[in-house]
Amino acid sequence: MQSAADTWSAELALRWAFDRLGNQVALVSAFGPEGMVLIDIAAHIQQRFRLITIDTGFLFAETHKLMAELEERYGISIEKVHPALSPAEQEDAHGPALWKRNPDLCCGLRKVQPLRRKLAELRGWISSIRSHQTVVRAGARKLEWDAKFGLAKINPLVDWTAAEIWDYIRKNDVPYNELHDRGYPSIGCTYCTRATVPGEDDRAGRWPGFAKTECGLHLSEPASNSSA
Ligand code: SF4
Repeated sequence: MQSAADTWSAELALRWAFDRLGNQVALVSAFGPEGMVLIDIAAHIQQRFRLITIDTGFLFAETHKLMAELEERYGISIEKVHPALSPAEQEDAHGPALWKRNPDLCCGLRKVQPLRRKLAELRGWISSIRSHQTVVRAGARKLEWDAKFGLAKINPLVDWTAAEIWDYIRKNDVPYNELHDRGYPSIGCTYCTRATVPGEDDRAGRWPGFAKTECGLHLSEPASNSSA
């Protein structure tokens, strides 16, 4: 059943989160096009807001460049969350190229666990997922309880289409990852992202060779082994 929150605009959802949760709510982004739209809307609501990203140690140089650009443009400081293990320590503990053998475990170590530790400080987190992106995301609501991490989750863009996202970016001259113009519609770690070809799904370039479509952050339960 629809709740009143499901009818909120993205701006209203963000205002609700900032008003109700103050400094105990944060945007969490990997700086895809949806994240950039959300950051831009948030920056028009209030000058200061918390923005968290997970730096897995395997991000593209273009993603780091975009982070620096948006810190400059919006005058904010991104809170970077790091995995407990450095890439070398992970290799010592789990062997080389874990992402090729067990990407669920790798995402668990490098994404889910660090985010879990960070979210323990908060009462709510704001994501930029859209319901059309994956089967898992189809059931997402604008305002929901995240039982996995134990806090409120706000998804202000859940009912936006990809066309609406790009329309907003172009109309408002919002910065975006230059890899999108080189055939990468969805961008994660270097080892698990490839360019797509025309006709492929936007997320076909993520974890190529695996059925995996989610890193585990937006699953109601962590991907198998992700908490190991
Ligand atoms: S996206 Fe790939 S490299 Fe990055 S954490 Fe997940 S499995 Fe590891």
